[in-house]
Amino acid sequence: MNILQTSIIFIYGIICGSFFNVVGRRLPKKESFATSRSKCPTCSTPIKNRDLIPVFSYILLRGKCRNCHQRISPLYPTIELLTGVLFAYSYIMFGWSIEFAGAILLVSLSVIILVSDLLYMIIPDRLLLFFLPLFIILRVLAPLDPWYASLIGAIGAYLLIALIILISKGGMGGGDMKLLALLGILFGYKIIMVFFLSTLIGALVTIALLATKTVNRKQPVPFGPFIIMAALLTYFHGDALLEWYSGLFFY
Ligand SMILES: [Zn+2]
Repeated sequence: MNILQTSIIFIYGIICGSFFNVVGRRLPKKESFATSRSKCPTCSTPIKNRDLIPVFSYILLRGKCRNCHQRISPLYPTIELLTGVLFAYSYIMFGWSIEFAGAILLVSLSVIILVSDLLYMIIPDRLLLFFLPLFIILRVLAPLDPWYASLIGAIGAYLLIALIILISKGGMGGGDMKLLALLGILFGYKIIMVFFLSTLIGALVTIALLATKTVNRKQPVPFGPFIIMAALLTYFHGDALLEWYSGLFFY
C-alpha cells in the first residue's frame, strides 16, 4: 500500500461520488445528466462552479444554498465521502489487480443505487443495463472457478427473488430481483451469501427504524441499500465472514 496512491484514489473517488450523486438523482427522472447544469432544488438558481467542489463547498457554505439559504441535503457530501473511502479501501484491499477493477465497478453501481433507491425507491433498469456488459467483461477476463458459476449465480438469484416476490407479495421488488441477478455474474455461488446477509441486515435495520419510530409499520423501506451493503461486505470480506461463521459450528 502506498499512501500517495491511496490519497489520489480517495480524491478521485470523491470526484466520482459527486458525479454519482447527479446520476442517482437524475436517471430515475429520465433527466439528462451530461448537459444541464446543477441547480438549487429550492430556488432553481444554477450552482456556480466555485460551489461545485465536492465536500469542501458543502462545508464552506455550511450546508446551505448561497442564494436562498435553504438547507442542502447532507446526502450529497455523504455520498461523495463514501465513494472516496470505498475507492481507497478497494485499493488497500486489492492493489492494482482485476479484483480492484471489480471493486470499483461494484462501488460505483452501489453508490448510484443508494442515491436513487433512498430518494425514489427505484433501481433504474438503464443503470443495471449499463453495468451488465462491464460485469460480463470482468468475469471473462477473470473467470470464477468454475467459469459457469457466474451464469448459475445470475439465473439462481433471479429465480430465487422471483419466487420470494410471488410468495410474499411485497418486500422485494423487480428492481431488487434484477440487481441481484446482475450481481450474480460478479459473485457466482457467493450470491447466496449476498442474499442471506441482505435479509439479515434488512431485518436488523428495519427493527431499529421501527423501534426508534423513524419509520412506521406501513411505510415501505427500500431493500436495494441492504443488497448493496451485503454485496460490499461479501466482496471485501466474504471469505473471512464465511470462515468465522463456519467456525461457530465446526470447531
Ligand atoms: Zn437555493
